[in-house]
Amino acid sequence: MIVLKVLVEHAAYALNRPFSYVYNVEKPPCVGARVVVPFNNKDIVGYIENVEIVNKSKEEYEEELGFNLNVAKSVIDSEAILTKELRNLAGEVANYYHAPLISVYQAMLPPSLKPTSSSFNNAKIQYEKYVKCINSNEEGLTSKQIELLRLLNISSEVKKSEIKSLSVLKKLIDNGNVIEIKKEKMRYRFENIKNLKEYPLTTLQEQVKNEFLNSNDLVYLLEGVTGSGKTEVYIKLVKETIDSGKSALILVPEISLTPVMLNRFYTLFEKNVAILHSELTSGEKYDEYRRILRGEAKVVIGTRSAIFAPLDNIGIIIIDEEHVESYKQDNTPCYHAREVAIMRAKHFVGCKVLLGSATPSLESEARAYKGVYHHLKMLKRVNERELPKTEIVSLQNFKNIDYTSSIFSIPLRNAIDECLKRKEQVVLLLNRRGYSTSVLCRDCGHIIKCPDCDIPLVYHSFDKLLKCHNCGHVEPEPHTCPKCGSKYLTKIGFGVEKIEEEVHKLFPNARTLRLDSDVGKLKNNIVTTLNKFANLEADILIGTQMIAKGHDFPNVTLVGLVLADLGLSLPSIRSSEKTFQLITQAIGRAGRGEKAGKAIIQTYMPSHYSIIYGARQDYQGFFANEMKIRKIQQNPPYTFVSTLTISSNSEDLAEEYIIKTMELVSQNSNGTIIAIGPTKPYVYKDTLGFKRQCMFKYKNKGQFDEIVENIIKILSKKPGISIKINIDALD
Ligand code: ADP
Ligand code: ZN
Ligand code: ZN
Repeated sequence: MIVLKVLVEHAAYALNRPFSYVYNVEKPPCVGARVVVPFNNKDIVGYIENVEIVNKSKEEYEEELGFNLNVAKSVIDSEAILTKELRNLAGEVANYYHAPLISVYQAMLPPSLKPTSSSFNNAKIQYEKYVKCINSNEEGLTSKQIELLRLLNISSEVKKSEIKSLSVLKKLIDNGNVIEIKKEKMRYRFENIKNLKEYPLTTLQEQVKNEFLNSNDLVYLLEGVTGSGKTEVYIKLVKETIDSGKSALILVPEISLTPVMLNRFYTLFEKNVAILHSELTSGEKYDEYRRILRGEAKVVIGTRSAIFAPLDNIGIIIIDEEHVESYKQDNTPCYHAREVAIMRAKHFVGCKVLLGSATPSLESEARAYKGVYHHLKMLKRVNERELPKTEIVSLQNFKNIDYTSSIFSIPLRNAIDECLKRKEQVVLLLNRRGYSTSVLCRDCGHIIKCPDCDIPLVYHSFDKLLKCHNCGHVEPEPHTCPKCGSKYLTKIGFGVEKIEEEVHKLFPNARTLRLDSDVGKLKNNIVTTLNKFANLEADILIGTQMIAKGHDFPNVTLVGLVLADLGLSLPSIRSSEKTFQLITQAIGRAGRGEKAGKAIIQTYMPSHYSIIYGARQDYQGFFANEMKIRKIQQNPPYTFVSTLTISSNSEDLAEEYIIKTMELVSQNSNGTIIAIGPTKPYVYKDTLGFKRQCMFKYKNKGQFDEIVENIIKILSKKPGISIKINIDALD
């Protein structure tokens, strides 16, 4: 008899252990395959953790156990869906992030392979039929048949769909001249390959490359100012890695996967490249994943979850723009790709991790200072190009106010005008999508909110709808106040759509493009927009932080930050850091070509240090200042911060358990773990119920880990609540 130890698909802490099932088939299945099992009177999907052959009958075995075993229905996969290396990594990730193991497996796999019931609705292998000549004996064939046979004889394999006379083909197959072959069809096609030229490295790039290659450290932080040519260094290092017979894994923020970037890699590594990112369909993801698994790809480029690509023999893991928050997953398992990269690199002899950024996260920079990471620097732009000139424009100073525009100051308006006259391009950034921030009733003060999340709905002018930026709820724009019936509704605040409208008013001849996540709702739309701008089909690109990262537009000579202090009002430990990064990255888009660049920063807080250091692009200055503040406030990187969220259909219960947990932690740690809360998150309800949150600050990770395990044990037994743990939370 075969006994399977199975992790069920529900990623709940209470179920985070293998369940035993009897499997009544002769041949034992593979560890790591998926299986359909009954669970609470339903058939669900599980993941086989262990296979045991027991020399007893079911009855004997059950008698020994003292309870009855359920019978597993069918095994889905004939092989393990994860490599041994990835299974080990999953264990480490689950351990570090205190996440249910099954949730890590689920995060690692593409939709079609995830151990969940929903994976059945996703794409499977697609096949294509080919035909091939195996016998050129023409005896007894008609002339038509001979014609086709000779044609097939001179080609190796031909797609069946390309052959027009199927009846003639059928005769050749029946006659044994030709055979049919079924081949897996690759749905993902990367097109538009242009040959992009390769540059010889500058002295500085060469130095950095050699220092990386000649050191034996595990993790490297490449701090390189915007336009210092980090991509070129990555490419050369990937080349060296491939030449040495190893493979390379490259992570980029979602938006950096532009055709330009992909073209570079395709041109250099051709069929050896596999891509993994969210724009792919589930079929494409599945194909790319299997191609990597089969060892056909030596270079994998992708976003966050590509850190789990089933690549073997990895020699280098590169994380570009390592400071970007999207490398941290928001839901369980709340992993950070940077930490996972470091865990994973240790699985391969000689594998190194390279983190790159113009504005490294404070954590990484602090580690580089302490020598935990090897610090590499490129503090000059390629070919000594100047960093853009910057100007801070105070919106408090009436001299700057243009009374005909609610958005543009006189200096920014003039600069745009001049730039357009020179036929150069402008980038305008505001980190807020939509048209206005909220809709307010002037009679009763009611603000229209999302019925599910209770946060203000945002008006979007392109489709004239009110939208929830948290859950995606959409409703038509009301004409009267839903509370008092008044007609006097006003839209307050402004987002990128309003900037676009204002630009059209002030510069009627300028061609504009908008880039935000609304644009990104249509597949490939982001890439198309960026391409249009790069091909000079527009004069002004208006967008959210999406446009700040990684792009290289040589004709952009003016960057305008419409409201640079927007992020500073958010209650986050990292609001200064984020504001500084956004300013520096945005400014870095200007003057990357032959022409010098300029940036204008509009703000109500002209003397805030994030804005001043950002304008100077003085990362070191900002780092020193911010570290002082973090030290005084005992915030990361001086401490660790993690959060606990409890959801429940009863708001009181959520509150009660958060308070109890906080008390427990304070007692058990003798006050060395500081518990802050309970807080009601900005989005305080969703499908799991009402939420309450608390934050833990601590220095001793080992102690905290022990206490968390204890908390999980206690809380997972309580009915009516669900918990989420976010280790090293960013907010
Ligand atoms: P970063 O990512 O550091 O901001 P990029 O890698 O985008 O910088 O490079 C900035 C610009 O410099 C790009 O236009 C790139 O093509 C160019 N560049 C990079 N390396 C070289 C080189 N060795 N010689 C000439 N131009 C280069
Ligand atoms: Zn009203
Ligand atoms: Zn909502």
